[in-house]
Amino acid sequence: MQADDQQPERKTIDERHRMSDQERLRHSCAHVMATAILRLWPEAQFAAGPAVDTGFYYDLDLAHRISPEDFPRIEEEMKKEIKANHVFERKVVTREQAMADALSGRLGGLSERPGNVSKFKVGNLEAIPEGEPITYYQNGDFVDLCAGPHVMRTGNIGAFKLTSVASAYYKGDEKNPQLQRIYGTAFKNKTEMEAYFTMLEEAKRRDHRKIGAEMGLYAIDTEYVGPGLPLWLPKGGAMVEALENLAKETEFAAGYVRVRTPHLAKEVMYKTSGHLPYYAESMFPPLEVKESADAPAAERYFLKAMNCPHHHRIFAAEPRSYRDLPLRMAEYGTCYRYEQSGELFGLMRVRSLNMNDAHIYCTPEQFADEFNAVNEMYLKYFKIFGIEKYVMRFSTHDPAKLGQKFVNEPELWKQTEDMVQRVLDESNINYVKVPNEAAFYGPKIDVQVESAIGREFTLATNQVDFAVPKRFGLTYRDRDNTEKTPLCIHRAPLGTHERFIGFLIEHYAGNFPLWLAPEQVRVLTLNEDPALLAYAKPIVSELRSHMVRAEGDFTTNPIKAKIADAEKARVHTMLVIGGRDMEAGVVSVRLHGKGNVGAKPKAEVVADILAAISERRA
Ligand SMILES: [Zn+2]
Ligand SMILES: [Zn+2]
Repeated sequence: MQADDQQPERKTIDERHRMSDQERLRHSCAHVMATAILRLWPEAQFAAGPAVDTGFYYDLDLAHRISPEDFPRIEEEMKKEIKANHVFERKVVTREQAMADALSGRLGGLSERPGNVSKFKVGNLEAIPEGEPITYYQNGDFVDLCAGPHVMRTGNIGAFKLTSVASAYYKGDEKNPQLQRIYGTAFKNKTEMEAYFTMLEEAKRRDHRKIGAEMGLYAIDTEYVGPGLPLWLPKGGAMVEALENLAKETEFAAGYVRVRTPHLAKEVMYKTSGHLPYYAESMFPPLEVKESADAPAAERYFLKAMNCPHHHRIFAAEPRSYRDLPLRMAEYGTCYRYEQSGELFGLMRVRSLNMNDAHIYCTPEQFADEFNAVNEMYLKYFKIFGIEKYVMRFSTHDPAKLGQKFVNEPELWKQTEDMVQRVLDESNINYVKVPNEAAFYGPKIDVQVESAIGREFTLATNQVDFAVPKRFGLTYRDRDNTEKTPLCIHRAPLGTHERFIGFLIEHYAGNFPLWLAPEQVRVLTLNEDPALLAYAKPIVSELRSHMVRAEGDFTTNPIKAKIADAEKARVHTMLVIGGRDMEAGVVSVRLHGKGNVGAKPKAEVVADILAAISERRA
C-alpha cells in the first residue's frame, strides 16, 4: 500500500457549481462504491470521497484491509446499485439533525449503526461554515453528508472500474488516523472507458523515462550530481541542439537578438523583481560570498529561478529610445528551481531547466503586433511537431483581489487584458478564459497541448508584464522626449528542454522525425570487403560534413543483427550497402519501423536526407 496524502481542500460552493459533468459522474460513483462496500462490510466508516483527475476515491476506516482481490466483489455490488437506478436525492437538514444522525452512525451508512458513530462525518460537519446549507444525498439506503453536486440517478454511471488502494490520513494530517483510500474511475459509457485504459497502456509504453533510458538520452545521477538535475547524454544533447537551432533560426528571422547571462545574481536583484521573499520557497538557498576577510558582511547570491531579471538589467545597461523598440531579447537560459524531492519526476519536474526564453520590450502601440507574432510562432511550432490539438488558457485578474494577489494597477489590468483579448479574438486562436489565475504582474496565457495519445501537457507560458519593468526603473525616451516604462512580454514557446523533450518522447514514442532523431543515419555494410568499405565510408563522411548525425556499422556482424541493432536504437534512416549496390552506384534505404523503401543513386539519397532535415519534415 502506498502512502498518498494529497487531500484536496474542502471545495467552496462556487467550485462545486463549476464541477464538470464528468466530475459529477465520478463523485457520484464514489457514493455508489461506498454503498457497495457497506453491503459487504456494514461497519465501514467513510471520510471524504471527491472526484480527482483520473477518477475518484473514497477514504474509509475498516479493520479488513481491502486489496485488489476484493475489487470484483465490490464491483459486483456496485453494478447492482447502478442497475437499481436509484435517484440521488438531496435533502437540506439542520446542523442538529445532522449531528444526531452522525452520532447514530447513519451518515455514510446504509442504516443506523448504534455504537458505531460516523466519526469522520462529525468532523466533516464541523468543517461546514456557519450559514452554508447542510445537505444529504441519498441513493437507495445509503445516506451521505454531502454538498454535491451529483448526477440524477445511479444508472447514469455508464462504466466504472476500481483501480487501486492507497493509504491516507484523515484530512491529510498525519496526526489523524490512517485510512484506506480506494481509487476508481468512471465514464459516461464503456467506449470512453476503454479508450482511457488503452491510452494509459500506450502512455506506459511511451513513458519518457523508459524510452529515455533505452535510447540513452539523459541520466539522473542522484549520487554525484543531485536529484532533479538531468545530465544530457550525447544523444539527448543532439536533440537539445536540434531544438535550439530551430529556436535560433525562428527567432532570428522574427527579429530577435540573443543575449547570455550568468546563472546567479545578488539578493537585491530578486528583491527588486519581487521573487524574494514571495518566491523564496522555489529558490535554492543563497550562497554567501565574502569579498575580503575584513568585509563587514557576506554578500548573498541566488541561483536564478527565472531569466527575466537579468534581461531587465540588460535593458537597463544602455540608454533606450523608442527607436530601439520593440527589443526582443532571447536566451536559452538555465534556471534553477527548488522542487520538493517528492515532486521530482523524470524530465517533467526537475530542478534545473533550460528555457526557450525571451522578453519583448515594447510600447503599448506595438503590443498587439508583438503579441500576435508570438502566437504565430507558437502555431508555426505546433505545425512542425504535428501538434493538432492545443488550447490557450487566458488567465485574467480578479478586481476584488487587487493589491493582494494582483498588483494594484486597475487601469493597466484593464488595458492589457483588453489588448490580449482583442488579439486572440482577431487571430481565431482556440482559447478559453480563466478568471482569477493571472500572474501577479499581468495577464498570462498557458498553452496546453495534447500529445499524439491525447495526454495534456502545459508546455509554455506567455505573459504580459506591466509592473516589473517599473520596479526595475526601466525606461525609454519617447518621441515627445519623456521617459516612459515599456511593456514586457515574457514568452517561451518551446518551454524548457527538459519538459519539451519529455513531451516529444511521448508524442513520437521515441520515433522522432529525421531532423530531430538523435542518430539520423546509419550506414550498414553487408560484409567487410575493402572495396565495399571504400564505397560506404565516404557516405558517412559526406553526411557528417553537412552536420548530419551519421554513423557507420562496418563490423563483421551479420547484416540481420546490424539492422536489428539500428532498429533498436531507433536510427531514423539506415543505408544498407552490398556488393550489388556498389556496382550499381546505389544504396538501399531502410526507414526505422517502416522497412526497406528501395535503392537509389548515392547522390540522390544524400540530397534527399539534407532536404528532409533542412525542411524539418515530419
Ligand atoms: Zn456526494
Ligand atoms: Zn520572464
